[in-house]
Amino acid sequence: MNARGKIGPHPNPPPQAGEGEERGTPLSLPPLAGEEPAPEALLIGGARRADGGESGHIDWIKIRADFPILTRKVHGKPLIYLDSANTSQRPRQVIEAVDRFYREHNANVSRAVHQLGEEATAIYEGARDQLAAFLGANHRDEIVMTSGTTMATNLVAYSYLLPRLKPGDAVLVTRMEHHADIVPWQLICKLTGAHIKVAPINESGELIVEKFIDALTPEVKFAGVVHVSNVLGTINPVKELARECRKRGIPLLVDGSQAAPHLPLDVKAIGCDFYCVTGHKMCGPTGTGALWARRELLDAMPPFFGGGEMIRTVSFDGTTFADVPHKFEAGTPNAAGFAGLAAAVDYLQGIGMANIAAREHELLDYAMPRLEAIPGLRIFGTAPHKAAVISFLIDGVHAHDLATLLDQEGVAVRSGHHCAHPLMQFYGVPATCRASLAFWNTEAEIDAFVDAIGRVRKLLA
Ligand code: PMP
Repeated sequence: MNARGKIGPHPNPPPQAGEGEERGTPLSLPPLAGEEPAPEALLIGGARRADGGESGHIDWIKIRADFPILTRKVHGKPLIYLDSANTSQRPRQVIEAVDRFYREHNANVSRAVHQLGEEATAIYEGARDQLAAFLGANHRDEIVMTSGTTMATNLVAYSYLLPRLKPGDAVLVTRMEHHADIVPWQLICKLTGAHIKVAPINESGELIVEKFIDALTPEVKFAGVVHVSNVLGTINPVKELARECRKRGIPLLVDGSQAAPHLPLDVKAIGCDFYCVTGHKMCGPTGTGALWARRELLDAMPPFFGGGEMIRTVSFDGTTFADVPHKFEAGTPNAAGFAGLAAAVDYLQGIGMANIAAREHELLDYAMPRLEAIPGLRIFGTAPHKAAVISFLIDGVHAHDLATLLDQEGVAVRSGHHCAHPLMQFYGVPATCRASLAFWNTEAEIDAFVDAIGRVRKLLA
């Protein structure tokens, strides 16, 4: 095994045509949006098959066997895990990478010159390389390791926005944002006298793109958009939004928490300025994630947390800081977690993100008509470009009751506001149930889920 705990080839490797070919680590600045056109279907069409992704040649049942937890029972029934948008399950390759870190390499990173210290550092920095390649970054230094998306958006809020906003300025978000892409900006607006502007969505849960563009008025100094909605599954046209923001000189942050586990990504092709991902939704450990940002933006941002590891020199007269990305990584990082995240990225790339997108789209196409056929069931989020996230309610039944009864059937779905209060307010509901599918789910599980809803309906009728 090499020092960063890289897993071997996937036991069931699909062809990897062209994947990651142009993702080296040259030092040049990123091209402007539009200079390097990416196949649109990769970015906004998701699993619609212009991107070369296929699922037919992959043994998905064999892949499913990589996930130990999927063999367990819940309330005496086989577990049907439909809560991947909340947190994904982990394959044994990830679990073993974390285990191996503690068994064989455990030491603090970047502090010790002894062998274990060097191995731990190589594993941690190796994860940065993995993430840079996975996201299509120009350079590994554009990747700041974080505890997840929430830390990434807060870092941008306090380090980038706070010094720049002034009274009368605005931050533009969409109605479908997660609280992690609302509340940090609100906190900064409160400190600076700026305000939040909201781009509307339609009943199907699609962003009204013309209205978003109209809202990009001169007082808007920053915009934040979710790539894939965690409630609706809507895949936003982030490339187009980035192009419009860039034309007006407005930096755009894209929250990729729900996109990274499911779609091929290329931040250069999207053309945004900041992109956030979270490890625990992409088969990696909790407490891991990353902020990608253009190098010149990171260079211009002051540190957010102060402490060990992020400095060059410290005296009581003042401190000089390490270069990016280390100036944003104060203290001891979650090195074991990043060993796991590196394995997770390897794992996902081993299957191929386009293939994952294709399989999940197949499952979505299988599930949607079956759910729509259930009398009294309402689906929230019916955009044509949609990831495999299905929010729903049944007339007269509270989301929590529904989720609790489904749990008795072994089916794990999430109920609640999904950290998206403004979206719940738009639909006039306090909560929804959400089934989120992943590539390891099966058609048989969807059938069992639909049957379970039928039984629950009868019970509550
Ligand atoms: N944004 C979206 C769209 C999410 O779904 C989530 C997690 N529910 C977050 C942000 C927050 O991510 P984290 O768990 O890393 O804080």
